[in-house]
Amino acid sequence: MVIDIRKMAAKGKYEGDFSFEFTPAAEKLLLPLCAFVGNAKIEGNYTLYEDDSVDVSFTLEYLIEGQCSYCLERAEKRVKYECDALFVTDKGDNDNYYYDGYRLDLSSAVNDALLFSQPEVLLCKEGCQGIKIN
Ligand SMILES: [Zn+2]
Repeated sequence: MVIDIRKMAAKGKYEGDFSFEFTPAAEKLLLPLCAFVGNAKIEGNYTLYEDDSVDVSFTLEYLIEGQCSYCLERAEKRVKYECDALFVTDKGDNDNYYYDGYRLDLSSAVNDALLFSQPEVLLCKEGCQGIKIN
């Protein structure tokens, strides 16, 4: 998950695309009784600016399955999450991500996206009524 910014700049390329897959760590999933299915996909692009900051936008996509939060039936959900992140070379900038000006590691932004994108509940269907008590 690393973009070699210096190499790109040397080639006169200030924009680019990237895509990769990774296996999300099970402990990153906040929902109980659920699991990631297969790999998560990242697709995005970046723009390098004159002040060395890099604007990165990407889409994170993954599938989770497990028990419906309301009725405990099997459920799954495909999550698609769009994320914009600015990477800067100023370590004191707490609003943005830091990189050293040479190699931009996307891991921190991807991990945050993985966290923020998660649904609060997993439902077997829209409007699940939960366990029926007769
Ligand atoms: Zn349900």
